[in-house]
Amino acid sequence: MKFAMFSLVSEAAPRLGLVRGDHLVDMKAACAPTWPDAPSTLLALIQAGPDAWQQMRAMAADAAGAPSHPVSSVRWHAPIPRPCKNVFCLGRNYVAHAREAAQARGQEVKIPTVPVIFTKAPTTVSGPFDDILVDRTATQQVDWEAELGVVIGAGGRNISRGDALRHVFGYTVINDLSARDLQQQHGQWFKGKSLDGFCPMGPVLVTADEFGDPQTKRLQLRVNGATKQDASTANMIFRVDVIIEWLSKGMTLEAGDVIATGTPEGVGMGRTPQEFLKDGDIVETEVEGIGMLRNRITAIN
Ligand code: ZN
Repeated sequence: MKFAMFSLVSEAAPRLGLVRGDHLVDMKAACAPTWPDAPSTLLALIQAGPDAWQQMRAMAADAAGAPSHPVSSVRWHAPIPRPCKNVFCLGRNYVAHAREAAQARGQEVKIPTVPVIFTKAPTTVSGPFDDILVDRTATQQVDWEAELGVVIGAGGRNISRGDALRHVFGYTVINDLSARDLQQQHGQWFKGKSLDGFCPMGPVLVTADEFGDPQTKRLQLRVNGATKQDASTANMIFRVDVIIEWLSKGMTLEAGDVIATGTPEGVGMGRTPQEFLKDGDIVETEVEGIGMLRNRITAIN
């Protein structure tokens, strides 16, 4: 199943939708007659647990006559517009990116032997087709990072590698936008990774059963139509199951937690000369089997 959060032009609050062809089925309306207190957001559904997932699956299978909207007529929101905690991120999780990132900073190339983990503030999350409002008083060096996003279903602590993928609810697309000047100035990455809107996400959350093996997917990113990144998740250093194993060591992962699994080579700072996003640029971020984000860079201040 492909879930999305959407709103109609006349409304502000997003609601849960299910993608069916070129329409979004309004799952709240579909559930209303028999399940009036059905979760109305994707996060609420994920947090409600396996019985609710099963019930939603049954409703989805039986939603033929439910109200739906053409995908082109709605506003798309991030599948999880406001995560309950920071978005977990992997740094340098593809060998070729680890190399380009080190070289760009004049550092010795070191391929991580344990995952490099940092986070982005929950306020970074923006919709799949939203403009990215860049505060130019804060940064002049906005860079792109196409990534596979993982959303936890059943939480847990000390999750083994063998069990890890059973803890995944689904997968989405993330662009881990990064202010390189701030990353550099502040030493620690958090600030440069956490500007408002710097985590466009979506357009859908594909359930784990439908998505299949997360290590066989093509990732692509284009700026104004020119391909900048084109790689496979097969090239991750730490695979999704290994990431979950490491991240959950002594630390509880909860339903709805979001993990950005790292970006492959081709980011702007690794290019010669370096490239950063300019106002008006259109960034398209795509993961095979999920879909594409399309965001315009727009200056404020
Ligand atoms: Zn990243």
